[in-house]
Amino acid sequence: MLNRYVAAFLVIELLISAYFVSHYFEKRALHHAEDIFIIQNSLEAAIGSYEMVNDAFYAAHADGMAYALHRANRASKEERDAIRKKLRETYGLFYNDQKLLSLEALHLIDAQGRSLLRFHAPQHYDDLIAQKRYSMRLMAQTTRFTHGIEIGVFKDAYRFQYPLFYDGTYVGFFEYGIGFDAIIREMEKIQSRQYAMLFMAERIDAICTCSAKNERYETLSIGDTVLYQHRAPSYRRYNDATMRLLIERADFARLIQSRKSGVIDYWHDFKHHSVVVLPLSDIEGKHTAYFIAKLKFTHGKELLESLLIDISLALLLGIALVYLYRKELQHQRYVRDILNTQKEMIILTDGLKIQDANAAMLDFFGYGSLDSFSDVHACICDFFIDEEGFLSKEQNGIRWLEYILAHPGTDHYVKMYDRTLREERIFLPQIQRFKNSNAYVVSFKDLTEQYRKSRALETQANHDALTGIYNRAKFDEALMHELHFAKRYRSELSIIMFDIDHFKQINDTFGHDAGDRALQNLTSLVSEHIRDVDLFARWDGEEFMIVTRTSLDQAVILAQKLRRLCEESRFDAIETLTCSFGVAHWHDDESKAELIKRVDELLYKAKEEGRNRVVSEQEEN
Ligand code: GH3
Ligand code: MG
Ligand code: MG
Repeated sequence: MLNRYVAAFLVIELLISAYFVSHYFEKRALHHAEDIFIIQNSLEAAIGSYEMVNDAFYAAHADGMAYALHRANRASKEERDAIRKKLRETYGLFYNDQKLLSLEALHLIDAQGRSLLRFHAPQHYDDLIAQKRYSMRLMAQTTRFTHGIEIGVFKDAYRFQYPLFYDGTYVGFFEYGIGFDAIIREMEKIQSRQYAMLFMAERIDAICTCSAKNERYETLSIGDTVLYQHRAPSYRRYNDATMRLLIERADFARLIQSRKSGVIDYWHDFKHHSVVVLPLSDIEGKHTAYFIAKLKFTHGKELLESLLIDISLALLLGIALVYLYRKELQHQRYVRDILNTQKEMIILTDGLKIQDANAAMLDFFGYGSLDSFSDVHACICDFFIDEEGFLSKEQNGIRWLEYILAHPGTDHYVKMYDRTLREERIFLPQIQRFKNSNAYVVSFKDLTEQYRKSRALETQANHDALTGIYNRAKFDEALMHELHFAKRYRSELSIIMFDIDHFKQINDTFGHDAGDRALQNLTSLVSEHIRDVDLFARWDGEEFMIVTRTSLDQAVILAQKLRRLCEESRFDAIETLTCSFGVAHWHDDESKAELIKRVDELLYKAKEEGRNRVVSEQEEN
């Protein structure tokens, strides 16, 4: 019982734990996806807000700029200087305004890919910038609006490039660039989180191997990926300690090297942190940077709630189980108490092994507990005394319990030795099947006294009180049985009747008690000299019958032997006596009464002929 409950409890706890773990991971994965989604969206929103400003500038000034480029494309050096001057006068103020909005670079490039005017660096111009820059080459091919990350010599930037047309002809484009520090500032307005950027070293190295790079970037190695971190504080809104901590983490390194977006969770300074990593591709579609956002762990409450629910559920189930278990235990104790108040031995068994036993049973065998009993004995049947008329361990190869079950009509007694009373006791086992199992409740009713009493009554009813041999009633019954036996097996049957000679006289001479003693002496004497199978009974007063399964000759020989024995034996008080015998052989189909009548007549004849003799039908014939 106990094991079943413990097992059930463990299984349920295991299932709950498995459910909780999977539930927890499911929820965490969901939160991670949500975090990635939020960072991606706020990044797009920040970029989008710049795009909106640029679109507005484009809408307002595209025509003017297109005209300037149209002219510049075919202008002399001097004319280009004049155009540049005019452009700065017209858009300079605007550019200064835009700088407040973090515009980094406003750049006009002509149809040949030559720089016409850098508002942010007006001293550099007329270089063939488009040959160096992928996005500009793309613009020349497609003459379409593009935007995206492009790592520059000094700085990364997010570029927006607007094509310009004059009279339907492509005349060049303007480029509008913002640094990621500006984007990060915008994102901070949307979400107050900590951001950082790491750049793929190979992408920057491809553009510039110059020493300026080392001043601007610091090298970080994560696994075999070399990354640069921009030295400008606006790019590293994380403090260095945080970045160093991340670099040490294996899960962070794995995530970086997978080049996939993801989230890592960690505990630091008694706080739970989540770090979102977004890989970014540039305009060329090449993996170029990682955008990293450190979030406050905001899902704690929700996860805690679900944890509490799961724990409560586990506890409730546990409590329910414990309650059931206790109830079962109480019930068991109750049943046990009832069993222990029973004086009868009661066991629970499958016929071989005892599964449970009451106090009466353990007391009887002198054991303190069932375990100590079971250590020594497998079966209660080890104690069954093998004796005629009693059940033993096995009957013709059938185990005792099955034998009883197979023979329900009759009472089966077992005899066991009582160590306390130091005597054999007789029990009646009664079997009841236990609740649809192959266990049985067996009670052993102690019927020793009743058994003895009934045996005594039986003896009383069948035996003569004075001599102890069969009485006339039993003789009648037994003779009947012998006749049937002889008839069925066609066997021989003879009967001897004898009577003490002049017994009246003996009584008169020695007294009635002496006569009684003589009767007792005589019956024991005869009993000793006949076979066990011979039937010997007191017929009446001092008349006796012997029924023997032999021929007439054999019976006569026996009678002669007994006659001589009587004559020669010494009896208490009366010293001597003699007997007369009649011997008859049973004829087929002769009734009991006829047989008795005949033998009685033969005895009578023996008396007539002078007593102390044997008369048989042989002689008569
Ligand atoms: P017989 O040789 O003709 O048999 O002479 P008998 O005296 O034995 O005559 P009978 O058989 O008629 O007598 C039986 C006597 O046995 C009568 C009775 O007093 C005596 N008797 C019968 N039963 C008992 C008994 O239980 N105890 C004693 N002491 N005497 C008994
Ligand atoms: Mg008589
Ligand atoms: Mg007599």
